[in-house]
Amino acid sequence: MAGGALDRPVGLLALQGDFAKHEAAFRALGVATRGVRRPAELEGLRALVIPGGESTTMTRLIDRVGLRGPLRDFAAGHPVLGTCAGLIMLAGDLADEVASHGVQPLGLLDCTVRRNGYGTQVDSFDAPVAIDGLAGVAGDYPAVFIRAPRIVRTGPGVEVVGRHGGEPVAIRQGHLLGLTFHPELTDDLRLHRAFLELA
Ligand code: GLN
Repeated sequence: MAGGALDRPVGLLALQGDFAKHEAAFRALGVATRGVRRPAELEGLRALVIPGGESTTMTRLIDRVGLRGPLRDFAAGHPVLGTCAGLIMLAGDLADEVASHGVQPLGLLDCTVRRNGYGTQVDSFDAPVAIDGLAGVAGDYPAVFIRAPRIVRTGPGVEVVGRHGGEPVAIRQGHLLGLTFHPELTDDLRLHRAFLELA
């Protein structure tokens, strides 16, 4: 990364969802953030987070404010973290057209995701996730899953860096990181710190 990049803020897509929780996590790490609601606000950021929320609403708002192309361009050259609905937005495609409800992912992470993949009866739960392959994150991470998506396919360029019950729940493709859970809802800052190391 070019000199000075570490002084730049991390962008938080702030159209909808729990972006404020990510802001708190980065603040605890001493890292400045900036909410992104329009294309010009991507300028000068070192990285971007697409938070949890509702991917249906996020799709509508991204297209309404003209962020689809700018987000794709930004992701070509900067680290992007997608958590839960944010991972759905990063995905290549979605399984199950009916459950997709008009969600149009950005097509950045080579994976297929099923929205609300755990069904309604167990749609929210906490579980330790074994993380392997991210700098500074060894062993179990206390993951919070809320109406979480399931990753049902990963492409050849995608590395599985976290599993729950043998299934991928954390995946990395170069400088793109996708988590089916919510690291911003715990006090464990290791995944936010590891994300900042992705170059
Ligand atoms: N189920 C939501 C969606 O499909 C994601 C839930 C979340 O981000 N916690 O967008």
